[in-house]
Amino acid sequence: MRTIELNSRQEQILQIVKENGPITGENIADRLNLTRATLRPDLAILTMAGYLDARPRVGYFYTGKSGVQLLTENLKNIYVKDYQSIPVVINESVSVYDAIVTMFLEDVGTLFVVDQNSILVGVLSRKDLLRASLGKQELAALPVNIIMTRMPNITVCQKEDLLIDIAVKLIEKQIDALPIVKETEKGYEVIGRVTKTNITKAFVALASGDE
Ligand code: ADP
Repeated sequence: MRTIELNSRQEQILQIVKENGPITGENIADRLNLTRATLRPDLAILTMAGYLDARPRVGYFYTGKSGVQLLTENLKNIYVKDYQSIPVVINESVSVYDAIVTMFLEDVGTLFVVDQNSILVGVLSRKDLLRASLGKQELAALPVNIIMTRMPNITVCQKEDLLIDIAVKLIEKQIDALPIVKETEKGYEVIGRVTKTNITKAFVALASGDE
């Protein structure tokens, strides 16, 4: 399903189907003095986009859905798993200094902290590391588990979640990223990362008709 800008011929087709549907492709073509073959791509686009419905031997119907309705439907079709990124994970015993180096090398804004069993125990943001750097502590001797945001105060998500629900969480909690987790007996295993950038990419894809 797509949300797209319609060209003038597609608008004309939509109008014809609105007024005369159900109507066959042949009939629409006649009204526009075009061949059925010429119209085929436009009809395919209108059907894929959800504006029209096609039934064999009956013809095309207008679905009655507005662009905004279709956009809403499309939003409810985008899942975390389609826009996730690879998580960058460090051990809780790593120093703040090494965490800062990792953040630069991996080019991410959020690090997830795990224990020796690879279970999620914390989150480190850019500002967490900046704040720690303001103090008088020796950064190479300060373990990240002293300064991280820790469980159970971590907002997580699953790969089957809707991206729009993640966007709501990011806004509500005023954070930039969520770990995508898998639940195990020991706790959460980190399997992915979803950030404001992923959501921005989905937004752009939606506008360009790729979603
Ligand atoms: P920054 O602090 O660099 O602006 P964020 O807005 O992501 O970045 O983080 C704000 C605070 O929220 C930080 O203290 C960080 O540890 C914490 N935080 C970040 N992500 C999460 C999360 N998924 N769950 C809970 N706390 C988080």
